[in-house]
Amino acid sequence: MTEIRLTNTLTRQIEDFVPIIPGQVGVYLCGPTVYDLAHLGNARSAVNFDMLHRLLRHDFGAENVSFVRNITDVDDKIIARSIETGKPIGELTAASTQDYLDDLDALSVLPVTNMPRATEYIPEMIGMIEVLIDKGHAYVAPDGNVLFHVPSMNDYGQLSRRSQDDIIAGARVEVSSAKRDASDFVLWKPKKNEEPESAAFASPWGLGRPGWHIECSAMSKSILGDVFDIHAGGNDLIFPHHENEIAQSRCANDTAHMAKTWLHNGMLMVEGQKMSKSLGNFFTVRDLLGEGHQGETLRLSLLSGHYRAPLDFTQAKLVEAKNRLDSWYRTWNGAPAAAEVPEPVLRAVRDDLNTPQAFAEIDALKSNPAQLAAAAQFLGLLTQSPEDWFQGGGSDEDGLSGDAIDALIIERADAKKAKNFARADEIRDQLTEAGIILEDGAGGTTWRRG
Ligand SMILES: [Zn+2]
Repeated sequence: MTEIRLTNTLTRQIEDFVPIIPGQVGVYLCGPTVYDLAHLGNARSAVNFDMLHRLLRHDFGAENVSFVRNITDVDDKIIARSIETGKPIGELTAASTQDYLDDLDALSVLPVTNMPRATEYIPEMIGMIEVLIDKGHAYVAPDGNVLFHVPSMNDYGQLSRRSQDDIIAGARVEVSSAKRDASDFVLWKPKKNEEPESAAFASPWGLGRPGWHIECSAMSKSILGDVFDIHAGGNDLIFPHHENEIAQSRCANDTAHMAKTWLHNGMLMVEGQKMSKSLGNFFTVRDLLGEGHQGETLRLSLLSGHYRAPLDFTQAKLVEAKNRLDSWYRTWNGAPAAAEVPEPVLRAVRDDLNTPQAFAEIDALKSNPAQLAAAAQFLGLLTQSPEDWFQGGGSDEDGLSGDAIDALIIERADAKKAKNFARADEIRDQLTEAGIILEDGAGGTTWRRG
């Protein structure tokens, strides 16, 4: 079996992946802050590292892989959204978490083995902060914030390799007037008067809530241990989030590493530009599904570039992805999939998750529907019957739902039987106009969207 090779951000090297405990793998992926619908950037990280999850399950066995993706359900943005909408925090985060999971399901992202919510690990976070204070790595500032003292760690900054000036500039985002050093960052912040009780927790430092970074340090330690195999996330998290996770975990646990391998996916752009609400090119997964794109089309688009490179998400890519899937579904035609994933496809994914290469290998399997299906299904594609695929895609505003189309086809058949050919032709015209292609065959009429 070929080795899995991964680009480790910590060493800037492609390395053979060797688990700490032979035969067992622990992965932590930073999950969403739940107050809004997932956008395409969130989806990219989830889909890219779903490929890692699928590969590890294939190579090590599902029961030997712990894949953790957290939910941040306490945060300034959540509190702001709750105040703005009048929705209680618990209701907002529960609904938003369910939306996120529904979207990932539409993108064929496998369920994770653990989905810790930050609010369920407050005692563990407090415990870790107490250890950091005891060891001289953290202090309670006069304004009530508990801060990590960055100069207390002599090799801070190994992951991001940032200059001291950049570190200080980054740290200024978290304003606290009482810092001993400009680069110190928040571990625990006191509740402000206007903030709701439901977002505050009792602690040795009074009512308050954890900083974002300590959440991941405490949850990963609780579930995967002091040192684990792989930590993943978007490359916008390298600094300060991951750098600070490392500082907290290593200093609290007295370890040389937090995770052995750090993986980061590149940013997502839309039509060549950074996705932003002000540019009007901000897309949620829900927007695109609502426009009639199928989840598998979005998934293939998101995997069409190497995970580490920036990905330019374009209309042209969506069309390309849809055409590719059409051709795969046509070749496959529902035949039983081969028992083994074809070796060239596995080799591509084991080589630093090279999904573009894997897709090219699948294209080359045109003469072997069983192998093509096994390969595509390993990548989370061809997950429905060809019939459902060609009928799917939802309906746009002027479009027809699948049920409405079925009803019209039955009405047309009845009209023909009753020799009401005018009505039968009318229905066919209506469907043609809606982009529905009818195929009359021996077994009745089938349809697909054109
Ligand atoms: Zn995190």
